Amino acid sequence: MTTDAPAPQPTWTPAWDRAEGEERARALFTATFDARPDGVWSAPGRVNLIGEHTDYNGGLALPIALPHRTYAAVARRDDDLVRLVSAQEPSGVREVRLADVAPGTVDGWAAYVVGVAWALREARHAVGGFDLAIDSCVPFGAGLSSSAALEAAVAVALDAVYAVGLAGAVVDGAADDDAGRATLAGLCVRAENEMAGAPTGGMDQAASLRARGGHALLLDCRDGAVRHVPFDLTGHGLALLVVDTRAPHSHVDGEYAQRRAACDRAADLLGVPDLREVAQDADRRAQAEAVLAPEADGDVLVRRVRHVVTEIDRVTEFVTRLEDGDVHGVGPVMDASHASLRDDYEVSCRELDVAVDAARAAGALGARMTGGGFGGSAIALVPADAVEHVAEAVAAAFAREGLRAPAFAEAVAAPPAG
Ligand code: ADP
Ligand code: MG
Repeated sequence: MTTDAPAPQPTWTPAWDRAEGEERARALFTATFDARPDGVWSAPGRVNLIGEHTDYNGGLALPIALPHRTYAAVARRDDDLVRLVSAQEPSGVREVRLADVAPGTVDGWAAYVVGVAWALREARHAVGGFDLAIDSCVPFGAGLSSSAALEAAVAVALDAVYAVGLAGAVVDGAADDDAGRATLAGLCVRAENEMAGAPTGGMDQAASLRARGGHALLLDCRDGAVRHVPFDLTGHGLALLVVDTRAPHSHVDGEYAQRRAACDRAADLLGVPDLREVAQDADRRAQAEAVLAPEADGDVLVRRVRHVVTEIDRVTEFVTRLEDGDVHGVGPVMDASHASLRDDYEVSCRELDVAVDAARAAGALGARMTGGGFGGSAIALVPADAVEHVAEAVAAAFAREGLRAPAFAEAVAAPPAG
């Protein structure tokens, strides 16, 4: 006879309230630089509700900004020196001269920060040196975009201390200069792509800078247009549970590059600039399989394209249901998204599948992996009074499967960087 091990208690990653986050960053700044910062700015991580691996295909995505934020205490300097410290990086103070900065010259986390200053200067904004202290409650490498939160916090801080004039203000959870923020988001993408060397499609930075409190951000990745879709789960007795699988992901970059390459190749073969073109053209959709299947890797291409095209449909369906007030109805759309990512796009992993299956079995209305995949986080739409129960069930499933304990967070649609 075996005795059951005691059920593991779920570990929660709470969001700090603003005052706490600001005070932490300010205290680190003062302890490090023995001076007061000009101010503290912050930017949220994000979680994507639906529309995965669509951004680099010119498709649609639907992220919300998380209540979890990265806080940046910053003081402008008179020279071109950048000194930076992060509570999440034990390596101490890094120093970089902006005059020496070019792609490939700055490694590690400093590349994200210096990259934003570099991108602003490349765009002819008069940005010079600064001292900066970072603290954050956005989980690292959990698919919740701590990198974009870091870039966006630095971007709005530099916008303020160097009077760049792109970030505007945030009033009642809404940014008042979306066009300026779209430009800033583009500069953050340059920082991440060219300085940090991470190929990302732009959804993360848009969410952190352009989202609205209480709303999901419908992002058209072809032209960068956005629409704010009311996303009020509490009013419907629901909650969004985030499961950080803490799965060690080692091949993410290579797999991501392969998926992008497959989509580019399929678009070439189909004679279109991007797969969005296929999604919105009935004739092209009907012909895609016949064109791609004869290729040596035809089976793979057909499935990759099917995911992208149907995922774009699902974003539209999800938004329609939200706008019709059928919030419960988005659950099955989430389930279909997960199946497509798992079977056609092949970017799920055991931990993500265990999280999704266990959440559904415990009463979630829908669940899916979110972010690029191969680890990272899953989300589950759950009755508000079942959040704890579903988290316990997922934690128990991980223990049963011999997986590292996951971490949990509750997500509400929070305000953007400011
Ligand atoms: P994700 O964005 O999903 O959290 P990424 O791999 O894109 O994961 O970005 C994580 C990287 O971003 C970290 O390895 C680190 O270099 C940088 N980073 C994010 N947040 C911080 C922080 N608070 N302090 C220092 N570096 C950070
Ligand atoms: Mg990232």
